[in-house]
Amino acid sequence: MSTVADAFATRHGAAPTGVWFAPGRVNLIGEHTDYNDGFVLPFALPHRAVVAAAPATGGRSRVRSVQEPGAAVEFSAASVVPGEVPGWAAYVAGTCWAFREAGYPVGEVELELDSDVPVGAGLSSSAAVECAVGVALAGLAGADVDPTTLARIARRAENEFVGAPTGGMDQMASMHGRAGRLVFLDTRGDTVELVPFDLPAHDLELLVVDTRAPHAHASGEYGARRADCEAAAAALGVPALRDAGPDDLPRIADERIRRRARHIVTENARVVETVRLLSGGADPRAIGPLLDASHTSMRDDFEITVPHVDVAVEAARDGGATGARMTGGGFGGCVIALVEADGAAAVTASVREAFAQRGWAEPVVFPGTPSDGAGRLA
Ligand code: ADP
Ligand code: MG
Repeated sequence: MSTVADAFATRHGAAPTGVWFAPGRVNLIGEHTDYNDGFVLPFALPHRAVVAAAPATGGRSRVRSVQEPGAAVEFSAASVVPGEVPGWAAYVAGTCWAFREAGYPVGEVELELDSDVPVGAGLSSSAAVECAVGVALAGLAGADVDPTTLARIARRAENEFVGAPTGGMDQMASMHGRAGRLVFLDTRGDTVELVPFDLPAHDLELLVVDTRAPHAHASGEYGARRADCEAAAAALGVPALRDAGPDDLPRIADERIRRRARHIVTENARVVETVRLLSGGADPRAIGPLLDASHTSMRDDFEITVPHVDVAVEAARDGGATGARMTGGGFGGCVIALVEADGAAAVTASVREAFAQRGWAEPVVFPGTPSDGAGRLA
């Protein structure tokens, strides 16, 4: 992707100082566990945000995105604070702010952004932007910033500058991803272990189905689930649901809160079991039942699925998938399906057919290939 560097050079009459990238991500398993101090198992996608940047003159930063045609958004990276920059550029300005707040030098930047991470599909186009800007700022400053620190800076931009109360999985996956590997993240302490996930060696593929379901009430429901999980932890007297086990659940009196907790407790166990199987060299087909159980738990206990994702999961299984589940925060977004490489076409056809029968927009299906995390391209 040198196009964004070419665009930069054409506009400014000089090549950028550097070109950096950061990917979107898919979560294999471990949903809504990240804000419960639990475990997640995402991987970085080949889809990425790419940033071409150079120091700016004139005391102002100017940022542009190929996906947001129009004038550049201007702000001062050296002094910008939350609330000053609205819209898409908040993800960029927020990363400048958080990078500065972390104690690193930030000069004014001339920045061009281009991304092929689908926006709002639950593949974390937002983290891709923040992390790409983060590695660019580190590169421009000549600062050696470790990936976890950059992920925390990017998350702070999203939480405190953009104002989205998300967990830390997306940025950690975007920073730590590696080709052929899953990122096993213990969100208590942010420790990372890379887990082998070599699907071609087993004649397997992981399909990602973007259901294109209309997102409804996602942020309000997300907040409600967080509140339910906090209530569950309080009822059990534990710091977070990470510290609870299946035997604790009957102690939660409220039926809904108990089901929410059951999802988190069983989901954490499924992540750990998935890692155990894959790290031990098991055939990846062995994780199929865990993917299925995760979906059932999200549908019945956590209640974060919608008809589009339930239909996609059912149709994927009917088409021969070894396991399938919704991935991401819920209320729309994407489904993943573990499929035989020579059965991918049948699974895709089955999902398309199920959507067509209901008069729904055609879903977008692509192979999810574990790819490298953020870095410098040029
Ligand atoms: P996602 O699930 O894709 O992360 P979010 O709502 O968290 O969805 O983030 C999407 C937002 O991130 C967009 O509305 C936009 O503000 C910003 N964004 C993502 N990609 C780009 C891009 N290429 N150019 C400009 N802004 C982007
Ligand atoms: Mg996002």
